[in-house]
Amino acid sequence: MIKKFLKRVLRKPAKTRLVGNAQVIPFRQHGVAREQISYGALRVTDGLQAAGYQAYVVGGAVRDLLLERIPKDFDIATDATPEEVRRIFRRARIIGRRFRLVHVMFGEDVVEVSTFRRMIEAEDAETDEHGRLLRDNEFGDQEQDAARRDFTANALYYDPSSQEIYDFHGGYADTRNQLLRIIGDPAVRYREDPVRMLRAVRLSAKLGIKLDAGTAAPIGRMKSLLDNVPKARLLDEVLKMLLSGHSLECIQQLRKMNLHHGLLPLLDVMLEQPLGEKFIMLALRNTDERISQDKTVSPAFLFAALLWHEVLAAWNLRVRQGIRPVVAMHEAMDEVLGKQRAQLAIPHRQDAVMKEIWLMQQRFEQRSGQRPFRLLEQPRFRAAFDFLLLRCASGEVDDQLGLWWDEFQDAATERQIEMLQPDTGGEKKRRRRKPRKKSAPETVEPLPAVD
Ligand code: ATP
Ligand code: MG
Repeated sequence: MIKKFLKRVLRKPAKTRLVGNAQVIPFRQHGVAREQISYGALRVTDGLQAAGYQAYVVGGAVRDLLLERIPKDFDIATDATPEEVRRIFRRARIIGRRFRLVHVMFGEDVVEVSTFRRMIEAEDAETDEHGRLLRDNEFGDQEQDAARRDFTANALYYDPSSQEIYDFHGGYADTRNQLLRIIGDPAVRYREDPVRMLRAVRLSAKLGIKLDAGTAAPIGRMKSLLDNVPKARLLDEVLKMLLSGHSLECIQQLRKMNLHHGLLPLLDVMLEQPLGEKFIMLALRNTDERISQDKTVSPAFLFAALLWHEVLAAWNLRVRQGIRPVVAMHEAMDEVLGKQRAQLAIPHRQDAVMKEIWLMQQRFEQRSGQRPFRLLEQPRFRAAFDFLLLRCASGEVDDQLGLWWDEFQDAATERQIEMLQPDTGGEKKRRRRKPRKKSAPETVEPLPAVD
C-alpha cells in the first residue's frame, strides 16, 4: 500500500497553485508532515479551525522544518482576535499590553498565538525621528501579516490540516536555496526596525545560510540606527545571539559587518588583544557546546567572560598606579560595567553574579590555610571555577592552578590538607612544599593574593 502510494506521489510532479497572492505549496513538494508539528500547536490550529477561523504554524518553526532543523517553538497565526482565541481554549491567557498575544498552555508546552497584523501605511505610521516604527499592532489579514514579517523564510504559513504551505514572498524557494532575504526594500525595513540587522546576522549564522547580497548591503551604512533602539531590546537580541548555540559564528559575523561597536563596545578592544580574543572565543565555544548538550548557560557568566579582559586591563592600570589590589579590582569592575551599561542594559542582578565570579578569580591564587576551604563553600564556586578553566585554556594563567582546584574540590579531606601550600601570611605552617612556579604570560599580570 505505502509503496504504491509513494510511487504515485513520487511520479507526479508536484504543482503549486495560486490562492490570492499566495503560492500554495503542497506536501508532495515540501515534505513537512503534520506529525512534525508539536502536540500543542496541532491542538491550537485544529481548535481554531474547528471554530471557523484560519490558523497556521508560522515563522521560525516552518523555516526550521524546511531546513531540517528542530524548531525551538511553534508559533501560530490566526484571524481570530485574542479574546476569540481565549474563549476557545481552557488554559489560555492574553499577554502583552500593546502587542497582545495569547499563550495557550498544554502542560509544559506553551503555544504562542498571534492575530494577523498589518503594517501601517507610511503616512499614518507612528515613528520616532529616525523612522523607527513605534506601533505595529493593528489587526490585518494573512497577506498583510506576511508583508510585515522580516525575512521571506519567516513568512511561510503551514496549515497542518492540508499540509500546505502558503508563501507570499518567495520564502519557500529562498529557504530551499539556503538564502535569508528581507521582505521589501532592505533600507526601509531596517529603518522601521534596526534590530532586523541583528536578526539577519543571528539567523544566518544560526541556520548556516547565506545572507542575500541585497539584504546585507545597506547594513554597513545603517548600523548607527541601532544606537536609537531601546537598550532592553538590544540586550534581548544580544542574548539571543549569545545563547543561540552559534554564538561564535554570530560574533564573527558581527565583526565582519562591523556591527559589534554599538552592542559590546568593549568587544573591539578585547578582540585586539591576542589573549582577550582567545579567551572570548573559548568562552563562546564553551557556551555553544553546553547548549548543544542541553546544559544551562548563565548570561551573567557569559557577560563576565566577554568583559573579563577589560576588567583586567583596568585593574592592571590601577595596580601600577599603586592602588591596593582589592580596591583596584572593585574600581575596575565598576568602571567596566558603567561603560558597558551606556550601550547595553545588562541588568543589575547580573552585575552581582559577574562581580562574584571576577572577585573569586583573585581568591583562587590562595592555596594555604583555611582560604581554599572557604572558597569551596561559595555558592558560585562552580561558575568561578569554570571561569578559571577558561583563563587557563586561554593561556592567561598557568594550567597548574586549574588542575590544583580540579583535584582539591573533590579530594578527601586528608588529601586536601596535604595539597595546601605553605602559608606565607604568618599562620602556622603545616607542610613545606616547593612554591609553584608562576608562568604568567607577559601581557597580563598575575592577580595578587587577597582574601
Ligand atoms: P527563532 O528560531 O530564533 O525563534 P524566529 O524567526 O522564530 O527565530 P522570533 O523572534 O521567535 O524569531 O519571531 C517570530 C516571527 O516573528 C519571525 O519568524 C518573524 O516572522 C516575526 N518577527 C520577529 N521579529 C521581527 C521583526 N523585528 N520584524 C518583523 N518581523 C519579525
Ligand atoms: Mg521563534
